[in-house]
Amino acid sequence: MVLLVSLAAILAASWVVPRPARAGWRRAWVAEIWHYTMLLRDRGLKNRYIRARLWHHSAGALRDAWRIRVNAPGTRRVRAAMRTSAFSLGMIAFCLTAIVVFSRGLAITRSMIAPRYPDARRLVLISESGVLLGQRHAVAPSLLEYWKANNTTLAGLAGYQWDYRGDAWVTPEFFGVLGVRPRRFLLRRIVDWRAADNQRYFGILGRLKPGITPAAAQTELRDLAARYRSYQKPSPFQEAEVMPLLPRIRQPLAGYSFVCALTVGLLLAGAAIGIRADRRRSGRIRTRYWTYYCAKSVALPLALTLVIWEFTRATSITLTGGTTFVAEPIFVWLVILNFGGIVWWCLADQRARCRACLRILQYPVRIGSLGAVLFDHAGTELVCCQGHGSLYVPAVSSDYVQRGGWTGLDLSGAPDAPSEPVRR
Ligand SMILES: [Zn+2]
Repeated sequence: MVLLVSLAAILAASWVVPRPARAGWRRAWVAEIWHYTMLLRDRGLKNRYIRARLWHHSAGALRDAWRIRVNAPGTRRVRAAMRTSAFSLGMIAFCLTAIVVFSRGLAITRSMIAPRYPDARRLVLISESGVLLGQRHAVAPSLLEYWKANNTTLAGLAGYQWDYRGDAWVTPEFFGVLGVRPRRFLLRRIVDWRAADNQRYFGILGRLKPGITPAAAQTELRDLAARYRSYQKPSPFQEAEVMPLLPRIRQPLAGYSFVCALTVGLLLAGAAIGIRADRRRSGRIRTRYWTYYCAKSVALPLALTLVIWEFTRATSITLTGGTTFVAEPIFVWLVILNFGGIVWWCLADQRARCRACLRILQYPVRIGSLGAVLFDHAGTELVCCQGHGSLYVPAVSSDYVQRGGWTGLDLSGAPDAPSEPVRR
């Protein structure tokens, strides 16, 4: 039985092997497995042991098939292409395109930058505060009616409610207050707008009268709510909260733009330092090398920021204008980690590339001896396959040991190559 499974595994693995070598490879491995099984049986070994050895042998066949595939001339060309800067930039461009397509043309980002509500500065979200700091509650329909009848600071008030499927229930005045019938409200996609019954607690949308500030409206609504509840003075809890709509929906825009700009700034500062060092050492700037660095330094943080806006809950707002995160600290930590990862990759990738043709350097050779204090320091040397130069990376970084760096070897071919070998 195990023998049959092993033979089937070899048959499957043979499809990984390039076509010209496939038949021969399959014959050789089938014969090998057959011979091995017979040999083990003749020795009178236990079945369990034979089974284990056969599994081991089959895994060896898979490894062998994979090795042949990786070293095939066609695959080698693909791998060589993957080492170029064009491949990296192409992948980044592909990711950006995918983000734009899957987010329906950056729908959330566009609604944050320019929401399509007429005179949006006058729109406010109204809720009631809870016992805990920052807690907000939806408002009872009867209180909404009382506010509608008695307020003097708002041109219109409407209630809304939604569920996770994208259905929304709104009071009849809702579209009049908002000014349009949008596809998105508070960055949330609304599939179906329905008329609300009066049984629900609402999030409230208001439109301020011209010249009225949200603070003035808040004071009035608090007084009205107190009167409605027949209290002598406003309660410390359950106070009306009025929040301007525009700053609320732009909150994620500002926050993550700042982190993105910080990351890009940090990376570009690195480029500025590198370019200055270039000019000091050789009097010329490796334009292609630094253009590639700047392109990925801008594109990658931008791509991550767009992913955060379009596909995470960072832009998800609750009914009362709060944040929906239950694990916000973890998310912020992940964001920091990801931006840190981008900075690390940009620097590491740049360092491992040829200064002339931007291909990833290859054939690492370990030189020197570990632990040598005076001479023969340990390090690794990598070379460009096109013969443009080599990079020395010391194992220990210190002022005392020999400093790492690039040695240009090409004397004429590359556009940015120095006129003579120069240690950089
Ligand atoms: Zn090169």
